[in-house]
Amino acid sequence: MNCIVCMKAVPSTTNVRMDPVTNTIVRDGRQSVLNPFDLSALEVAVRLREHLGGGVCALSMGIPDTERLLRDALARGADRGVLLSDRAFAGADTLATSYALACGVRHLAEGGFRADLVVCGKMAVDGDTAQIGPELACALGLPCVTGVEEVLDADARRLRLRREVDGGSEVVEVCLPAVITVVKDVCNPRLPSIAGVRFGQDGPVEVLTAPQVGADPTHIGLAGSPTQVLRSFAPERATEATRVAGDAAAQAAAIIELVERGA
Ligand code: FAD
Repeated sequence: MNCIVCMKAVPSTTNVRMDPVTNTIVRDGRQSVLNPFDLSALEVAVRLREHLGGGVCALSMGIPDTERLLRDALARGADRGVLLSDRAFAGADTLATSYALACGVRHLAEGGFRADLVVCGKMAVDGDTAQIGPELACALGLPCVTGVEEVLDADARRLRLRREVDGGSEVVEVCLPAVITVVKDVCNPRLPSIAGVRFGQDGPVEVLTAPQVGADPTHIGLAGSPTQVLRSFAPERATEATRVAGDAAAQAAAIIELVERGA
């Protein structure tokens, strides 16, 4: 079972700084950590390898400092790391990010590491869209199971999973290869062992540019992003409430009027 785990560097604090000119997150690498959901994703992959054999590759798109975090992933059980790092990737929205990650997955397959399973966190604690897993599955033409709470059973051809749904859970089976996204509590990530820390220092982490993974320049970074952030701001909190009277139809009409007035 070969697994690729998508791991994102996120700020370790809630003090996210925005560039006031470009309206993008300032990513200078200071105080960044691995997205907590992705540590759980890594643990899922490492347990599958322990159960079924194969390999685990941690894949990230980010600034050069992210290599430090991929080394932490090695210390926690990944066999290798791949970092997609290139100015051309900068300013990516989720579509451009998932395209770049798909290029990384294909590049690994061409090099002989064909993934049976791609594991993502359910969401990143900074961007918070939960879009990358499903978009990546779409880009790779693979089935996707989101919000996995438990891996119930696994063999080389399929997984049986419990996933969260509104008000409960459901059990699904998926044929491999596939993409899954996992919730944080899917399992407890292990701490690095001493041998793991040593492996993290010298283990293989490859840093690849956009041309090296065959990424089309028109599909990556700002150029490949159909959505752009126009302005970022903390929303003003209104404490006033307006009571609307009448039956349901009158209340609905009053609410529409309030919304249209921007009240
Ligand atoms: P989610 O979808 O919440 O993450 C789910 C999982 O996907 C993660 O747990 C992880 O497994 C995987 N994943 C996510 N990102 C990565 C990654 N980089 N490497 C490896 N795995 C990953 N950012 C900018 O810096 N500049 C911009 O101009 C910019 N514009 C944006 C415009 C829009 C409209 C949006 C929605 C986002 C924009 N972003 C920008 C943020 C950027 O798109 C996100 O950082 C990135 O696409 C990941 O999305 P997310 O954080 O919502 O991840």
